[in-house]
Amino acid sequence: MNKTFISTAIDYVNAFPHIGHALEKIFADVFARRERLLGKEVFFLSGTDENSLKNVRAAEKAGVSVSEFVNKNTEKFFELKKAFNLSYDDFIKTTEERHVLGAQKLWHACEKDIFKKIYSGLYCVACETFYKEDELKDDCCPIHLTKPEFVEEENYFFRLSKYQDYLEDLVEKEKIKIIPQSRKNEILSFINGGLEDICVSRSSERAGEWGIDVPGDPSQKIWVWFDALANYITALDFGENGDKFQNWWQNNDRKIHVVGKDILKFHAVYWPAMLFSAGLNPPNIIFAHGFITVGGQKISKSLGNVIDPFELAEKYGADGVRYFFLAEFPMAEDGDFTYEKFEQRYNSDLANGVGNLFERVLTMVLKYGVENIEPAGADQAILDLCSQTEKSYSGKMANFQFYDALKDVLLFVGAMDKYINNKKPWSLLDDKSDQTKEILSDLMFSLEKIIFWLKPFMPSKMGKTENYLKNLGEQKEKLNLFPRIQ
Ligand SMILES: [Zn+2]
Repeated sequence: MNKTFISTAIDYVNAFPHIGHALEKIFADVFARRERLLGKEVFFLSGTDENSLKNVRAAEKAGVSVSEFVNKNTEKFFELKKAFNLSYDDFIKTTEERHVLGAQKLWHACEKDIFKKIYSGLYCVACETFYKEDELKDDCCPIHLTKPEFVEEENYFFRLSKYQDYLEDLVEKEKIKIIPQSRKNEILSFINGGLEDICVSRSSERAGEWGIDVPGDPSQKIWVWFDALANYITALDFGENGDKFQNWWQNNDRKIHVVGKDILKFHAVYWPAMLFSAGLNPPNIIFAHGFITVGGQKISKSLGNVIDPFELAEKYGADGVRYFFLAEFPMAEDGDFTYEKFEQRYNSDLANGVGNLFERVLTMVLKYGVENIEPAGADQAILDLCSQTEKSYSGKMANFQFYDALKDVLLFVGAMDKYINNKKPWSLLDDKSDQTKEILSDLMFSLEKIIFWLKPFMPSKMGKTENYLKNLGEQKEKLNLFPRIQ
């Protein structure tokens, strides 16, 4: 297992990104960076869903053409990459030719399971999906709490019901591992409740003439989810059956999707069924993350609590924000953002914790004379603590428990502070003894470990620190890693 394919969901571009969008990308990015540090080959994919009806409606409202509208918003989503130092290898837009080709090819490959029928139902545009009446909450979409639209037309359907047993086996036996466990249980009970065939097209008229044509029937557009899910393989040149597709999808048993809990059903039920129908392999791991609120409330324009992720990154730096999101709450659960919480955590963990430890150690090392100090790890107590932390940290990182992994690192930082307090190496700096040198070497060894552990979370700061340590003899200024927020 030395290669990893990891994807984020592709976002609807009906509005500019908010911090919830940034959160998912950062989370996947930390995993991708960790895998690369472990020497694995990684393909990290993100993108935007430009074909949704939501985008069409939002463009109408803004009074511009749909393509002008989606281009402008996609640009903003792409800018998250730079703002948060995200290491995507590819970014796919569903209006791209390679996607259109691939989505239509997938449709063809599933054709034995696709049939036409007249259908009427309740459609939530925000979810881009039909709801049964008993799934509604007070006649409203359970997620958006808005009234779904009544739709009646002749559409194409996909025989999902046929794959009931296949999907049950896949999820139950963890051939697709759904994390966290509670979400796996939800999906299993959804499957066990009995799967119905799903509508996979809509009239071109209802789609506002926007989207991908059903092959051979331009009066219909491919349903946006059938189209969107295909991005994970169309970005790998599935349309042209390229090497990338064979290498990263078909011949790779480490394909990971990171998605919001609200769209897990599409990824854990519909998507594997579509792939199986087309004779293709399913993904291996699906991680469902929670949502972020601001000040305890759902992020919404009307509440005026939308926080611009670009402003946040500009004000505090990408690394600080990346760290906050992963250290403040476990990603599988919901979390909350406020400026107070942010500044508190930054100051306690980074300024007073990690930053202060680096400052303490480097001040002593520079005073002692750096040319003699090589990281060593001679003291058994330090070695033990390091290897314990490393083991615990690694296990948690492999299971997407970044919140717990960071706790391990912070505990280690605290332990090093205590170690310094006990050894009092500052009082030994003048005697230039071997004992002093050994203590300082051990401390440098610990700093290098901390850098390695924190690097996926704060690639820029940790990269700079690494360089600083490499050329310690030439440093004229203090490192000043995490200046306190006043
Ligand atoms: Zn909805």
